[in-house]
Amino acid sequence: MVVRKAMEVIRMAYFNICPRCHATLDPGEKCDCEEEEKQREEFFMRNIKEIPGTGQLALRLEREGTGYEEKTVG
Ligand SMILES: [Zn+2]
Repeated sequence: MVVRKAMEVIRMAYFNICPRCHATLDPGEKCDCEEEEKQREEFFMRNIKEIPGTGQLALRLEREGTGYEEKTVG
């Protein structure tokens, strides 16, 4: 069936491929991996601060009992 084949081609063309993880997405669907990435970014925005004068970044880690520990990254 030519029509059916054409429909299939159109359907395929409307599928989105996630540029990050290459998952096949329905039209308009957003991939989960982007959401995860955003949450990770927000986490770092909350927990990373710049050490004044050094230009280095410190990651604030919550530790049991002792409160926060600052770990230098980069
Ligand atoms: Zn993805």
